Amino acid sequence: MKNMFSLLWFFILFWFTGSIYAQDNKERIIDSLFKSSSEIYFRINVQSRSDVDLLTKIISIDDYKGNEIHAYANRKEFTRFLGYHYNYTVLPHPGTLIKEADLNMGKIQKDNKNQTIWNFYPTYQQYLNFMSGFASSYPAICKLDTIGTTVQGRLLLVLKISDSVNVDRGVPQFFYSSSMHGDELPGYVFMLHLIDSLLSGYGQNPRITNLVNHYQIFINPLANPDGTYAGGNITVYGATRYNANGVDLNRNYPDPDTLNGPHPDGNAWQPETIAFMNLADNTHFTMSMNFHSGSEVFNYPWDTWQRNHADSLWWKFVGREYVDTVHHYGPSGYFTELNNGITDGWAWYQVIGGRQDYTTYFTHGREVTLELSYDNTLLTNQLLNYWNYNVHSFLNYIEESSYGINGKVIDSITGLPLRAKILIPSHDMDSSFVYSSLPSGWYFRLIDQGTYNITVSAPGYFPKSIAGVVVSRHSTTRLNLKLIPTNPGGIRNDIVRNFPLAFPNPTDGVTQLRFPENSGTTAQFEMFNSSGISVLSKQFENVHGTSVPLDLRQFAKGIYFLRLQTGNTLYEEKMVIK
Ligand SMILES: [Zn+2]
Repeated sequence: MKNMFSLLWFFILFWFTGSIYAQDNKERIIDSLFKSSSEIYFRINVQSRSDVDLLTKIISIDDYKGNEIHAYANRKEFTRFLGYHYNYTVLPHPGTLIKEADLNMGKIQKDNKNQTIWNFYPTYQQYLNFMSGFASSYPAICKLDTIGTTVQGRLLLVLKISDSVNVDRGVPQFFYSSSMHGDELPGYVFMLHLIDSLLSGYGQNPRITNLVNHYQIFINPLANPDGTYAGGNITVYGATRYNANGVDLNRNYPDPDTLNGPHPDGNAWQPETIAFMNLADNTHFTMSMNFHSGSEVFNYPWDTWQRNHADSLWWKFVGREYVDTVHHYGPSGYFTELNNGITDGWAWYQVIGGRQDYTTYFTHGREVTLELSYDNTLLTNQLLNYWNYNVHSFLNYIEESSYGINGKVIDSITGLPLRAKILIPSHDMDSSFVYSSLPSGWYFRLIDQGTYNITVSAPGYFPKSIAGVVVSRHSTTRLNLKLIPTNPGGIRNDIVRNFPLAFPNPTDGVTQLRFPENSGTTAQFEMFNSSGISVLSKQFENVHGTSVPLDLRQFAKGIYFLRLQTGNTLYEEKMVIK
């Protein structure tokens, strides 16, 4: 008995020192891996899809093929990953694969028409110079905006190209953005090249002239400059996937699935994320695409859900068009990953908190993640080749945004444009409906060929249904709509947006509802969730100039819209429950 007892003690002691040793060893591995870099790149062998579903919540998967995952992790993510005891192999970081001398950093050459030859990676300062140079050389069709600054104070720039840069006159608003993963670089150079081609081709090339005249094209070549220039402003050698806080920006967005919520990665929204969320809020993009590399595939929503998007047939059609065109101009074998170059995001691997799903769900947009090349950073002598494989698709894809059903929604009496919800009742789901946007009153409902019944509604107006709307591919079904106001005099509401209805806002759920001085005797209050569904409605009497407590703790975190109708004035405000 005594012997047994000693034996037991021996085992306990052995297990204890063993685990201390293992702990110590783990710390040493982590220290050495993260000694000279903030993130690492590695390969993991997995048994099945369930491993992928688990790991995508812990580390940042870049590719999943066969039984191998390629992924990135920062120190915190990797520490957590080690707890799951997968076999892994650390690989050279993709941002260091091409020798600095071979990156052609900043080597600008011009052709015989004095056009830049886009076969180099620009320094940060050259990037700024190109962007401001475009705007100053073509002021009539090009406008430069700074939509935010990064963690390290670099600029997030968006160029708007249109023959009406300062007016919203009801044309599709299209957005290209690249390199939110800072070490995925071909799209960065391609977007500068595309801007250059659109501006210099205007008035010369009929197709480009048509694009500039009939679309508003927004281009952000570099969504994560801190990552791209992690090695310093004069080189992209040492570029990182993550931003300067070590956060993967493509996992940092609110996720459509309420189980994942507004901060699915456990990080605060990064300055870069907030800048793009504000941009998407203020501009109603009909379609958008964000460029990556690491694979060769057109990846459409949803990334977060296994179920199909309501418009998955449309996605497959436009994806096929993009990829077939690439196949026509590219060499055999290029852009054939997954289903010959196309995949539904979830079918490849689940991404939670990605920008594609955020834009598609919360802003009623249509965003695709496009993987341009297996190599994160292309050799500079390949940049013009890959550009040639893709440029026709870049132009086609912008043109797709004017097809489907579109038109203008107005008040039947005043003729003024309205913000109305365009719903296809037996078709729309998961927030796939769209709104007409103000000030133009135009909406763009992209949809596959077919015959649809449409319902149009706006607060203060009788809803309207239109049956049998026929849509064909590559064509536009124009459907202008008039809504009849419900108030008999037909008096239009003046919409006020600069009166803070809720204070504080953002709120943790306990806030005050404020009433303007000039409120009428009655005030009708309504709160809508981000899908436009009314979730709270209250009526108040004789409250002008006062405020009342508003307890919203039963509502999920997220973005809401508040609306207060009093007299003929409508107050609107966006509110965040955090
Ligand atoms: Zn990426």
